[in-house]
Amino acid sequence: MQIHILTLFPAMFKGPFSESIIKRAIEKEIVKIEVHNLRDYSADKHKKCDDRPFGGGPGMVLKPEPIFKAVEIIAQEKVKKKHKTILTSPQGRVFTQRIAKELSRLEEIIFICGHYEGVDERVKEIIDDEISIGSYVLSGGELPTMVITDALIRLIPGVLGCVQSSQQESFVKGDLLDHPQYTRPAVFRRMKVPEVIISGDHQAIEDWRKRKAEEKTAYRNNQL
Ligand code: SAM
Repeated sequence: MQIHILTLFPAMFKGPFSESIIKRAIEKEIVKIEVHNLRDYSADKHKKCDDRPFGGGPGMVLKPEPIFKAVEIIAQEKVKKKHKTILTSPQGRVFTQRIAKELSRLEEIIFICGHYEGVDERVKEIIDDEISIGSYVLSGGELPTMVITDALIRLIPGVLGCVQSSQQESFVKGDLLDHPQYTRPAVFRRMKVPEVIISGDHQAIEDWRKRKAEEKTAYRNNQL
């Protein structure tokens, strides 16, 4: 998969993409990530990408020209690929594991990171999807892009060492959460792990995990 990210702040992506699972996915050449500085697509001599909102109001708005230009140049290289251009926005459809799965099947994604008051509304003409990571407002689309990218990359076959890891976790079966996990030591600060999971009785362990997962899910749903 090829991922392009359009941002005013490329340096923000250095840490998250150079560690752990994403780093390994890049090294294994399962995914290629290119972070593009939006200023490189600005025709302005000062590389300005924002301007004041028409009609007045606080803050600045990202201009359409650099975004259109960047998407058009990147899109030229796409040939019959399953691709999507995604605008990160608090006004989009709310990101879920189901959407992560859907995106993990694509061959190419362009993410547009908004900033300031957001992007000129005409940018909607060139996007296929608008995704929010929750009903709150962040300063920019960089963190949402990292969140979405992380969630979808780990679902691409070959990325996780163990295939079962992404099949036995929260939200794989609707809203069902993962069961509680414990590791050594069996007693820690006088807290014991449940007897059943060290019993060696596989059927009993499976039944216990299923029951606990359902209890956790019901508890969480009551809090929502
Ligand atoms: N004026 C916009 C509004 O009220 O809907 C908020 C703009 S926000 C300060 C700047 C940028 O951050 C957005 O264009 C978007 O790219 C990103 N952003 C902020 N919150 C987000 C969220 N919950 N999900 C996805 N992107 C978000």
